[in-house]
Amino acid sequence: MAVCEECGSHQLEIAVLEGVELERCGLCDHLQGNPQAIARLDERREAEELGYSPIVYPLVKALELVPTFHVTAASPGRVETNEFPFVFLRVAQDGLRDVERLLTSLEMANQSTRRRWVVECTLQRGLLFILRPRFWKPILEIDNNDIREARYDFKILADILSRDVKLSWWRS
Ligand SMILES: [Zn+2]
Repeated sequence: MAVCEECGSHQLEIAVLEGVELERCGLCDHLQGNPQAIARLDERREAEELGYSPIVYPLVKALELVPTFHVTAASPGRVETNEFPFVFLRVAQDGLRDVERLLTSLEMANQSTRRRWVVECTLQRGLLFILRPRFWKPILEIDNNDIREARYDFKILADILSRDVKLSWWRS
């Protein structure tokens, strides 16, 4: 008979979360079952605790694998008001080489993304880097489909970046 891995209780109930059947302990609330589904739920909880949308959080984490990078804000955009998605990035004094590497990764990632992503730089109490999609049209013509499509790219960017930052050309 199945027992809770956390407290040993036999009071397991079936819980359907994110479309996957998991076991929840009736005594201590521990969840067990499909490891990928558990990891996704953990990540979602972590994102919520830090105030990030689960859509942007994997990319935030990938960027912060780089010691000179610090994400200060990130948004998946707003479909209702046509606000485009963005990530605000602060870079330490010695981090310009890492920005160059980020642009190299982005160049490759842009072959898989639905929209072309760019890094802009602006002055806001020091340099602020903004990672965002470019829509190639006047702002007033950006529609909610543009925003929706750009949202798909967060996962692609996160996957490529978290892979690249561990490669030798990024570390050298
Ligand atoms: Zn338990």
